[in-house]
Amino acid sequence: MIDTGSFSTCYGDARKKFLDSVERLQLSVHSIEHELRGPNDEVLAVDVAHLGNLEATRLITVISGTHGVEGLAGSACQVDWLSRFHRTVLPNDIAVLLVHAVNPYGVAWRRRVNEDNVDLNRNFLSHVGTAIHNPHYSKLHDIIIPDAYDGEERIASDARLAEIRNELGEDVFQIATLGQSSHPDGFYYSGDRPVWSNVVLQELMDTYAARREVVSVIDIHTGLGPYGYGLVGIANDPGSTELELARDWYGEAMTTFSEVGQLIGYPDYSAYTDAMLISGIRRMLTGVNVISGGIEFGTYGPEIIQAAERSDAWLYTHGSNASAETKETVRRELLDVYLPPRTDWQEMVLVRAAQVMRQTIDGMANL
Ligand SMILES: [Zn+2]
Repeated sequence: MIDTGSFSTCYGDARKKFLDSVERLQLSVHSIEHELRGPNDEVLAVDVAHLGNLEATRLITVISGTHGVEGLAGSACQVDWLSRFHRTVLPNDIAVLLVHAVNPYGVAWRRRVNEDNVDLNRNFLSHVGTAIHNPHYSKLHDIIIPDAYDGEERIASDARLAEIRNELGEDVFQIATLGQSSHPDGFYYSGDRPVWSNVVLQELMDTYAARREVVSVIDIHTGLGPYGYGLVGIANDPGSTELELARDWYGEAMTTFSEVGQLIGYPDYSAYTDAMLISGIRRMLTGVNVISGGIEFGTYGPEIIQAAERSDAWLYTHGSNASAETKETVRRELLDVYLPPRTDWQEMVLVRAAQVMRQTIDGMANL
């Protein structure tokens, strides 16, 4: 039996479980509060727990909530691992940093983006002033956000999107939806400066990670890939020592972003991956060997997720006068596509997350 009690369906419960688990281990929590509040007027914060020796030369960093709503699964993995920690003795020279809900606004409001409608995983641009140039997105912008949540108007909007998708071709359509810096109210927006969570993460890395020799990062996501399957993706460069280490640790159930880029045949793919959080961490930690990875737990496939994302974008753009019931329906749909309300999915996630954590600890111990 796998205990799935670490899962929560709202930020308040997830935060409480995390804080309680940390307290049970008699560890201290470092909380950085956000100025905004959640839908139930709850405090929003990035909560951080450090386990092991602060002077350890190797650090494993596990992050949840980069994509807001996806963070409820990430939180469950962190809480579950904390419940196992009394049985997991960390090797002496390895410490663990758990960063809970790095984008707390997105987790609490059940959005993938943050308080600025920014996709945090596109906000780590190489330097301020750089932007993601994606001319294809402009062709979609007016159509991808539907005029209505349901009814005739939504059907017509879906038909227009299918039409333009057909005109552009599938490859271009996929590239169009990778990220953009031109439409602040649109999909996958990068922002034009480091957002609050980005700045907080920089501070955390300065405090906890900058003086280590080796740092491995696991940024937990959901929504991409086969149902329940957890694929590790590594952002290190082809041929690098870090990438070879990761291959050794994670084996066949691992891919790299450069391989994904080749697969979709898009030469500018690195413009998007450079803006990801795990790429940002590599740049923050100059002089440190960073094995920079994420894990994606698949849910229901791209069509279902995109439909829920479009409803969410409609709510953000046109839905201020929507009924409370409709607002709740949209938020519930988005939650369900990123956090399937099924025990089988949750069990698969926890087993795999514990496995990846075990592989990382073993790998770091054998350096
Ligand atoms: Zn994600």
